[in-house]
Amino acid sequence: MLRVLCALMASLVFSVCAAPDTQSGPINGAVILQYHHVSETTPKSTSVTPAQFREQMAYLADNQFNVISLRALAEAIQARQSLPEKTIVITFDDGYQNIADAAHPILKEYGFPYTLFVAIEPIQKGYREMMSWDQLKVLAAEGADIANHSWAHEHLIRKLPGESDNAWETRVINNIQATENAIEEATGQSWKMLAYPYGEYNARLQTLLASHGYIAVGQQSGAAGIYSELTALPRFPVAGPYADLSNLKVKMHSLNMPVLSQNTSDPELKVGNWRPELRVTLDTSDIHPHQLMCFVQGQGAKKPTWLSADEFSIQADLDLPAGRSRYNCTAPSKSKGRYYWFSQAWVRPKNNGEWVKE
Ligand SMILES: [Zn+2]
Repeated sequence: MLRVLCALMASLVFSVCAAPDTQSGPINGAVILQYHHVSETTPKSTSVTPAQFREQMAYLADNQFNVISLRALAEAIQARQSLPEKTIVITFDDGYQNIADAAHPILKEYGFPYTLFVAIEPIQKGYREMMSWDQLKVLAAEGADIANHSWAHEHLIRKLPGESDNAWETRVINNIQATENAIEEATGQSWKMLAYPYGEYNARLQTLLASHGYIAVGQQSGAAGIYSELTALPRFPVAGPYADLSNLKVKMHSLNMPVLSQNTSDPELKVGNWRPELRVTLDTSDIHPHQLMCFVQGQGAKKPTWLSADEFSIQADLDLPAGRSRYNCTAPSKSKGRYYWFSQAWVRPKNNGEWVKE
């Protein structure tokens, strides 16, 4: 009953209600890890080695992390239910064969649930490095959630030449629904969870997905929770220089930044606004404002400007480059010895309005 009441009253008094549900402290959400390859032979920038992956999973098990599925996290956020301290979600993008070979056995051994985001075209074309439907079915039967990564790994926000807003919307939602249907047909699963290809999204795409009942994850860093948008849940990429456990431990312990409002959360920048000002209002009850530090990707550390006791502003000194960028901000918790972590994704075309090729 208390839980129901708290859910009803969540938007007003969730911090009061949190205590009965949790082992300790307020609702913190979870850290979502994003992997691509678990292999010695794939590109370093998107890979961890099988030894590193085993070390990371052992660390989670040995340090009493609570590993849950992405859909369990989404349900908890939607219901404003609190989660245990140190909750982790494990995700893989693209469905590479090495995940079945190297990661799945380790995850099975530890009993960790996970989500695999797959695009349909590479599976249908039978690319050797991708899992087949038969393999995905086996993993699904053994506890993996198979989820949506678009039909052909498209840059979803990009319009075709001359395409109207409405035509774009129709094309994109048809793409997502066709992907969802193909996954359901092959595996019996349909969770309505999308990983944006390239981590690219904009506000219009978020609205479109939400109106069709989807949640979505990006590639901007940070801990996810009640202060996140359900169509832009952050994930920490684990690969290359970010695969080292000493580096990863801090992220695994990070907390959902208590963002109460932002002047904008739409990543897509319009021509001429290449140094976007981001104003963020925080619940500063567990944060010393002067300890908040931000980073502009490619431009280094940037001290935020405090506009009031709880609102800060950050702006790049130089134009953000064409393509994707981020602003990241972190602040130590007063009470927990851990870091609040937040990231705003940005994406912009070239000056002539064309998108960078990749
Ligand atoms: Zn991908």
